[in-house]
Amino acid sequence: MKLCVIPGDGIGHEVVPVAVGVLQAVLPGLQLVFADAGWEEFCRNGKALPERTLAAARECGAVFFGAVSSPMQLVEGYRSPIVQLRRELGCHANIRPTLSLPLASSRSGIDLIIVRENTEDLYVGDEQSDGEVAVAIKRITRKASLRVARSAFELARNAGRQRITIIHKANILPRTDGLFRDCAREVAQDYPEIAVDEMLVDTAAMRLAQAPESFDMLLAPNLYGDILSDLVAAFGGGLGLAPSLNLGVAAAIAEPVHGSAPDIAGQGIANPLAAILSAAMLLRVWWQRPELALRIEQAVRTTLLDGIATPDVMSPGVSTQHLARVVIERIRLQQ
Ligand code: ATP
Ligand code: MG
Repeated sequence: MKLCVIPGDGIGHEVVPVAVGVLQAVLPGLQLVFADAGWEEFCRNGKALPERTLAAARECGAVFFGAVSSPMQLVEGYRSPIVQLRRELGCHANIRPTLSLPLASSRSGIDLIIVRENTEDLYVGDEQSDGEVAVAIKRITRKASLRVARSAFELARNAGRQRITIIHKANILPRTDGLFRDCAREVAQDYPEIAVDEMLVDTAAMRLAQAPESFDMLLAPNLYGDILSDLVAAFGGGLGLAPSLNLGVAAAIAEPVHGSAPDIAGQGIANPLAAILSAAMLLRVWWQRPELALRIEQAVRTTLLDGIATPDVMSPGVSTQHLARVVIERIRLQQ
């Protein structure tokens, strides 16, 4: 098994080595290929995503991506390497689970997964303006909608999930969101054991705020998925604990939801749990080793139960390295 490791920028340098160390604790044979991408790499070599990084990612299939900083102003030639990497590797689905965890989460009983379409919708970036009228294209295709729905239902089946809620606003956008909804319904027919319902995105926002524990899986177009997953992540304990996986057919990119957090970078206090839980997602979904993912998740859970966490979760908190040592020690003790 091979993993392409791209720490990126800022706290990526602090949390990625920790997550990789945790992976190695459960998968001693894992081969690592380190590669560079991001703003720091752009400043050094003029490319945010060098060819050799892309080649390494393709070759490995499994990628661990830390975070990238983006400059405040538009910089000629700089494009976010993660957006490009997702596209180049064909990662069409973004999977974002939220789980109630001891110590960190403000709500209990949450165990949901949002599957977000990752390639189109308003994110195609096709905007025009003459200063008076501005228009953005919301593009929904049958192909991308069927593809992400297939990934969601497969994931539900493999993870033993009971229900998928399709998110849309087809009352206002019957053509675009209606197509997304209809494609999801079409795919659902191949999965009779999984219950399917649908909800308008505004209703879903309210229900998620009121009763997040009542959801199992949500399947959403790009923009709604982005917004709803941030909303729920707040209950899970915030950015320091929010993992994600970008999933394609030939590749998967594990990527904590947080960015490079320049305000705390270099201080040794970044919460590595989002990265560690992203590593567990690679194990469960990409390498199909749920038993190893579970070991990591249990070590995280018992560490938090014992009141050990970084300063974003509790005060005074422990350092990134301290937390990493505790989690790895617990994984070793499980054997
Ligand atoms: P970027 O432009 O790279 O996204 P950002 O300034 O938006 O950078 P984020 O990484 O998105 O920073 O983080 C937003 C806030 O959450 C910051 O205040 C940051 O300190 C905090 N934060 C994010 N990730 C973590 C983490 N792993 N541990 C602790 N705090 C975090
Ligand atoms: Mg950010």
